Amino acid sequence: MPQFTPIIIASENGRQGCEAAMRILRNGGSALDAVEIACRVVEDDPHEHSVGYSGLPNVLGDVELDASIMDGRTLRTGAVAGVLHYGNVISLARRVMEELPHVLLVGRGAERFAAEMGMQPSEQRSFEALRRWRERFDDAGIAELNGIPLRELAKQMTRPVNLVDRVDHGTVNFIALDRHGNLASAVSTSGLAWKYPGRVGDSPIVGAGNYCDNRYGAAACTGMGELAIRVSTARSLVLYMKIGMSLQEAGMEALLDLDYLQAQPGQYMNIVALTPDGDHAGFTSVPGKQYLYFEANMDEPALAERKVMSKE
Ligand code: ASP
Repeated sequence: MPQFTPIIIASENGRQGCEAAMRILRNGGSALDAVEIACRVVEDDPHEHSVGYSGLPNVLGDVELDASIMDGRTLRTGAVAGVLHYGNVISLARRVMEELPHVLLVGRGAERFAAEMGMQPSEQRSFEALRRWRERFDDAGIAELNGIPLRELAKQMTRPVNLVDRVDHGTVNFIALDRHGNLASAVSTSGLAWKYPGRVGDSPIVGAGNYCDNRYGAAACTGMGELAIRVSTARSLVLYMKIGMSLQEAGMEALLDLDYLQAQPGQYMNIVALTPDGDHAGFTSVPGKQYLYFEANMDEPALAERKVMSKE
């Protein structure tokens, strides 16, 4: 049985998660355990405001979380979306995969399942973004958002200059290869800040924001989730490798798919990808973005540039 050199790759905000995951991978642990732990570390970080229960609120001020996990060996996957009150949604997604005959649970059902699994609800943590959110609505003389139409607010949110002067969002991606040659991927997020309640992004949509197959590779996304949903970005990249493209070619093809959508200024998509033999790359539709990689023979995670599309 050939031994593989373990590796984990991540979005830029995944440094501490990579370190926790590498301890598991170096001890011969599974890629699936590694990506779950990595996500939990980021979800638990009170300073990380795009993931977990310190995440960004929706337009009503509630933090609604999404997550998915995928096992590249079996193609089993679990996901949750629009979850209130529970911070470690990646573990909830894994329980969906392992305990239910389903793939995706949303909202009240997901929260009920979390309680059934003995998970402890967590308090939404107050933070800077929530304070700014309140100030804006106080300034506008909007005392009570419940019951008023929210669609104009949700539309403004996606504009480059929006209610809070910028689009706030973020997600964490992890993809790991373990010693046994198994791949796994995990994605966790609070989604787009100030989103319409119930809005679901790409992170829990397997094929859009997350996909993993031992035979061809894995990909995961951060950025404006609506874009990745419309062109199935993660699955497409893996499929392009299946039909014979190199990792670089597959990433460029996925960026080309995104380019066709003519996203509004300020809207972008980032991808990280890993092959079954440990080659990795990052791609982005806007210049200047990075990702992390951490091989078992390195001392610490390192940053690498994400590639942008060349239009010639
Ligand atoms: N992709 C996430 C979403 O659309 C947000 C992000 O990655 O910034 O929910």
